[in-house]
Amino acid sequence: MTPSTSDPFNVEPLNLILYLETGCFLLRTPPGDGIGTGIETDPSEAETTEDKEFIRCRKCGNPVTHPSERISMDGSHAHTFANPGGILYEIGCFRSVVGCGYMGPTTDDFSWFKGYSWKVIYCGKCSDHLGWLFISPVNDPFNGLILDRLTDPE
Ligand SMILES: [Zn+2]
Repeated sequence: MTPSTSDPFNVEPLNLILYLETGCFLLRTPPGDGIGTGIETDPSEAETTEDKEFIRCRKCGNPVTHPSERISMDGSHAHTFANPGGILYEIGCFRSVVGCGYMGPTTDDFSWFKGYSWKVIYCGKCSDHLGWLFISPVNDPFNGLILDRLTDPE
């Protein structure tokens, strides 16, 4: 069969037959042409209801964690510790954080929680130091966040 080069409205014969018999084309979209599945969600609704409930970086407002992530360690959510330089930190324990980065190697030097090593947590937006991630070989990791560097949800 020789393809017609003179006909600019060259229609695939099969599709034309389907159109004539059923009144509609069966559209066979080639892959990768940018046409989506047609399933779209509206993310704005979910975001606005959840947004207010985030605990945020006090400096830049970046969402850091959520009140439901609060946990107790050694019988308490909040702890006050001094670092080797004598600076006092009041930290709260949280199961997980969002929008944060972890910095540096994990170390167990001067760890405030027995059996845990730690690394620094910083804000993913403004890079402020927000706390420490505590890691244990036998227990779940958790995040100790410096409470006066966070805002509470209203
Ligand atoms: Zn920040």
